[in-house]
Amino acid sequence: MPKNLKNLYIGAYIRAYMRANIGSKRRHRETYWQRWVKQHPRISIYLNREDYDVLKKVSDSLGLSYREVLLNAVSDIKALHDKLSKALEMIIEGKAHQQGYDEGYRKGYEAGYEQALKDIRNAKVPEYKIRALGLEYIKCAICKKPLEGYVVKTGTKLTEAIKNYVIRTNIHHSYHDKVVKND
Ligand SMILES: [Zn+2]
Repeated sequence: MPKNLKNLYIGAYIRAYMRANIGSKRRHRETYWQRWVKQHPRISIYLNREDYDVLKKVSDSLGLSYREVLLNAVSDIKALHDKLSKALEMIIEGKAHQQGYDEGYRKGYEAGYEQALKDIRNAKVPEYKIRALGLEYIKCAICKKPLEGYVVKTGTKLTEAIKNYVIRTNIHHSYHDKVVKND
């Protein structure tokens, strides 16, 4: 082999080798990156100006990133959902169960439970008994008597929010809307 041709051959070999070497490194980095991406799914959201300004204001005032604000909001909703489910399943039903049992409706276990639930929802159980169980009725915005069917746990933020909402939006017994005619 002539010398210059040999050099050319080695040169080509080195170039090919280096390319393979660099290529394998790049491939390795890509697999790591691809793996990372798989573990960190990317989401994009489009906000209108108003929603964006709210998010920015909240994030600035709390000193949190947008990501942290959104994650906090999600976990707040989850906590609220969990609390609501628990309140419905355990507090209201459970306490009503206890109420049915304690008051001894003498209609058997199941009947007592069902009856207690019905009585509480129909606002037939006196307020003081309901309060002793840590519950209260939601009251009519006009006459302040219980609105049938609405029982809430006393002293929670959610209860206060519901009570404020009832007053603010003037939720009341439908019979207050009946026009009284004076003949
Ligand atoms: Zn009323």
